[in-house]
Amino acid sequence: MNTRPPRPVAGDAVDRFADIEILRYTVDGFDELPPRQKRLLYYLSMAAIEGRDILFDQNGQHNLKIRQLLENIYTRYPAHRDEREYMELEIYLKRVWFSSGIHHHHGREKLLPGFSPAFLVNAARHCHLHPGEIEQLLPVIFDPDILPKKVDKTPGKDPLLASAVNYYRDVTRAEAEAFYATRPDDRCLPSPGLNTRLVKDKNGKLREETWCAAGLHARPINRIIYWLEKAAGEADNEQQARYTRLLIDYYREGRLETFDRYSILWVEETAARVDFINGFIETYDDPIGLKGSWESIVYLANEEATRRTDIICRAAPWFENNSPIDDRFKKKHVTGISARVVTAAMLGGDCYPSPPVGINLPNANWIRERHGSKSITIENIINAIDASTRESGLAAEFYWSDVERDLLSRYGHVTDRLHTDLHECLGHGSGTLLPGVSALALKEHGDVIEEARADLFALYHVADPRMIDLGLLPDNEAYKAEYYRFTCNGLLVQLARVPTGRQIEEAHARDRALISRWTLERGATEGIMELRERDGKIFLVINDYPRLRGLFGQLLAEIQRVKSEGDFPAASNLVERYATCVDPLLHAGILARYKKLNIAPYKGFTNPVYRPTLDARGKIIDVHLDYSEGYTAQMLRLSSWTSR
Ligand code: ZN
Repeated sequence: MNTRPPRPVAGDAVDRFADIEILRYTVDGFDELPPRQKRLLYYLSMAAIEGRDILFDQNGQHNLKIRQLLENIYTRYPAHRDEREYMELEIYLKRVWFSSGIHHHHGREKLLPGFSPAFLVNAARHCHLHPGEIEQLLPVIFDPDILPKKVDKTPGKDPLLASAVNYYRDVTRAEAEAFYATRPDDRCLPSPGLNTRLVKDKNGKLREETWCAAGLHARPINRIIYWLEKAAGEADNEQQARYTRLLIDYYREGRLETFDRYSILWVEETAARVDFINGFIETYDDPIGLKGSWESIVYLANEEATRRTDIICRAAPWFENNSPIDDRFKKKHVTGISARVVTAAMLGGDCYPSPPVGINLPNANWIRERHGSKSITIENIINAIDASTRESGLAAEFYWSDVERDLLSRYGHVTDRLHTDLHECLGHGSGTLLPGVSALALKEHGDVIEEARADLFALYHVADPRMIDLGLLPDNEAYKAEYYRFTCNGLLVQLARVPTGRQIEEAHARDRALISRWTLERGATEGIMELRERDGKIFLVINDYPRLRGLFGQLLAEIQRVKSEGDFPAASNLVERYATCVDPLLHAGILARYKKLNIAPYKGFTNPVYRPTLDARGKIIDVHLDYSEGYTAQMLRLSSWTSR
């Protein structure tokens, strides 16, 4: 007999430290899968966690060494473990694990330890670690002026030299732009530099180092290939087997043409129950938006809930036609859009431990236009976060009155997911660039403008009566819940995530600030919405929801114009004026109110452990999920793999 731990509840807290709470998610539906699909999920899940060290290295060139140093001390330290500085080291290590590096995963500022350099040196000596190497790392860990930001786009600085990310070595922005601009600007070519680091050789000549089986990070990449080969043999259908093999070829040789061929097969495959993303994908952390950070997510389609996104996808042409944007910027043929509601089964790289709640890929613009895009809404992650914040007191503290709280408790559950669906399936897939406009024309502001475009598309259309006709919303009050939640978050609540004295950094946070502040500026003069003070606290009041929709429509038209025309000056004006700065007085008030609630502003997750059962010949005949592993144990286990 074997005893298994009681079934966990989604949203169960596993750990809490600094500004972070670690939860569990559950993979509902796993136990009912046939053995072949369990094997497939198992192999893909292994491929998903093998690339962890690649991301640490991409996030900063000292990250792996620092992690190893801290883990060595953490596990071997002989003295009293209740010592204050040792406990501070534990917190710092947990934060480094969470951020996959020494900079905050969201705000991107350097994490500063609560222990002293003297403690670290002394502890390292007790653990018999080599003193020379520690000396080099001390300023990187402790000096707030060395590598202060993971991504630094402050105007006036060279973003590539100022940022700590490891995508460029001693290369200026002008040099990088010239290097990649020498390629013909044909829109059917691969995304330049997506899977490489740009470096200078001894003679100052620029050269790319490719992340592939024969290049950088060969070890983890060969392991990813090993597991993907097994997965290809258990694929859900022939097309999945083909794209999995193309992905393997791409990992072997690093050719981006192969990655594009993979992406096309991947986006056109929509029937598999089990699917995955594994590669150099999102470019948010490259200051000029070229390099893809490594990530993986493995998931299982939730067929019941996918009916909702099927309805949305079928209506895509209608939404495109009825968008409040200039006809020249509308997509003529809306094709290939697919969207599913899914259950995450494994998170890796940039999706771990802090996953997105929705994903829309591929990112290559020309593939999206010709072959479509695939979206997922990750429902078990959303549910787990919901469950953990339900009783948090956030609505009581930040919402103006019972009217808004009622709206949110009646509709918030539905409208929040619908917003994510619309943002991912339709928003990112909508609109088109004018001929000759490069997808990279908006440079460092491209990501914020793109996210704002997707959010505005969702905000504008969620209030359309068509939502009720399609059966997606119950009545014409429901959209108000999303309007209030979104703008209240963009203007007030999300500032709780920004440390005192800092700016808003992360692309989605900037996009929400841009939209909310732009509409507030216009809405306040017309009486549509306002910030009101009560008992020394600032609240948002929305007086006229239909006219707020009109403002969202106006801004969507402008943001789409900026994107379609590649109007960089307008993009930087919008971002600098609305998306980044923080009013210190307002900020202090938000931080104080949030602190009282004692909730962690950031959530992350531990993965379940997949435990295969083998038959006498070593074939996997079943796989069980084990949810009992804690955060620290999981992180140490993953790190120990590197040295196996
Ligand atoms: Zn998005």
